[in-house]
Amino acid sequence: MNILFASSEVAPFAKSGGLGDVGAALPRALAAAGHDVRVVMPMYSRVHAQGRTFTEVVPAMWLDLGGTHVKVSLYESVLPGTTVPVYFVRCPPLYDRPSLYGNGPDEHLRFAVLSWAALKACQALRFAPDVIHCNDWQTALIPLLLRARFSWDRLFENTRTVLTIHNLGHQGTFPASVMPQTGLADSWYLFHQDELRAGRLGFLMTGLLYANAITTVSPTYAKEIQTPSQGVGLDGILRQRADVLTGILNGIDEDEWNPANDKHLPVGFSAEALTGKDTCKQALLAAAKLPYRRDVPVFSLVARLVWQKGIDLVESTLPNLLRHHRFQLVVLGKGEHKHEEFFRLLERAFPGKVAYDSAFSERRAHLVEAGSDVFLMPSRYEPCGLNQMYSLRYGTVPLVHKTGGLADTVWQYNPRTGRGTGFVFDHFDEAGLSWAIRRALEVWGTGTGEYRARWEALMRNGMVLPLGWKHRVGRYLEVYQKLR
Ligand code: ADP
Repeated sequence: MNILFASSEVAPFAKSGGLGDVGAALPRALAAAGHDVRVVMPMYSRVHAQGRTFTEVVPAMWLDLGGTHVKVSLYESVLPGTTVPVYFVRCPPLYDRPSLYGNGPDEHLRFAVLSWAALKACQALRFAPDVIHCNDWQTALIPLLLRARFSWDRLFENTRTVLTIHNLGHQGTFPASVMPQTGLADSWYLFHQDELRAGRLGFLMTGLLYANAITTVSPTYAKEIQTPSQGVGLDGILRQRADVLTGILNGIDEDEWNPANDKHLPVGFSAEALTGKDTCKQALLAAAKLPYRRDVPVFSLVARLVWQKGIDLVESTLPNLLRHHRFQLVVLGKGEHKHEEFFRLLERAFPGKVAYDSAFSERRAHLVEAGSDVFLMPSRYEPCGLNQMYSLRYGTVPLVHKTGGLADTVWQYNPRTGRGTGFVFDHFDEAGLSWAIRRALEVWGTGTGEYRARWEALMRNGMVLPLGWKHRVGRYLEVYQKLR
């Protein structure tokens, strides 16, 4: 199949979270399965700041979005480790900014342009996609554009669209007055009319109305988003479209996240040979300037420090536990100022026990995964989550709230049977989280002898799970095939 994968993030070029990882790994897996995949994304300043070389493939494409004339050009590179072409939409006034997203007055224009440019690129390169795979609100106008603006072109005769929801919390909702700059003003009647009357225009909502198929990143999240409590206002539309909505778990990039061969680690380790993990623990604690004690468990957290990730719950629960129990805490995360401040204070309040790093560092994230014993992921909601899967692979036992993809990937450990892969709490409150942490500490015990043997068995339960994209890509192909 010919597949165009349109995304606002593709690692390593640009990534702010899980979308960036998926934006690279899924196209890679589709290409490995023998398909002609091409990726399209914006050329943010960080993309060309990294000393890479790009070939200009289309010097100039002019877009007229309701009288706003935008000139874009197209550059090409490849997805590292593959021959998958990546097309970069270059438009310095829109994309040359320090952060990927912003709250500026032209945010709608930035991604309307991306969506237009993705289709124009197909025309310029004579690439006839069977599937255009759109991701989140930033590329969600493509299905409607295809129908209202590009259907005259026989190039798109067999093109079907798939829209993947990576996080329903981000919908790209703008004042209805931005309509002309979507380039779709003539087709105003095709937008959701109640929304327009209420003065709003939602990119994601529009995509949900017109995509031929909708997917989201875990089966549990696919159910949750159809309920009023977790549908963030779109549950009605999602229920209407339930017949084309599928939940497919994300995979992990097993080359990038492989404890046996990880360029970011001092030594490798695996389910069969675990000793290297302890060396990684020493390296992590040295880097975090914490004392190392083999029998003291290290809990860790790597996340965007935002409401979704349950950081407020960590803040209200952890101090008391740190006061009364023997464990260390390593936090790597950037995000809301108040949360960053909290962890700075916590570090000062618990010297030798807590370390906080506010960097965004791929290298450090790998070391944290490798060198810690328990990984905290008490997300309020979690469409899929990648870190709990990296943790499973690295023998770092995940401790999660039973929601979304966390509920689909982590099974409650039962010390009696030895089955299970982590610690799971049902109720998103202090009692729930502290129950799970106490339970993890109980199972850890003295961290030696029989306790250690049991812990290692628990680690191995997770380390051997099939989590790679090669196990998931078939589900996407099924969705694509059904559209033909
Ligand atoms: P989300 O997409 O909601 O941020 P995921 O768990 O799906 O959550 O993916 C998060 C990704 O971002 C992981 O690859 C994680 O390692 C990475 N990440 C988050 N914060 C940092 C950080 N401060 N430094 C390095 N990587 C980070």
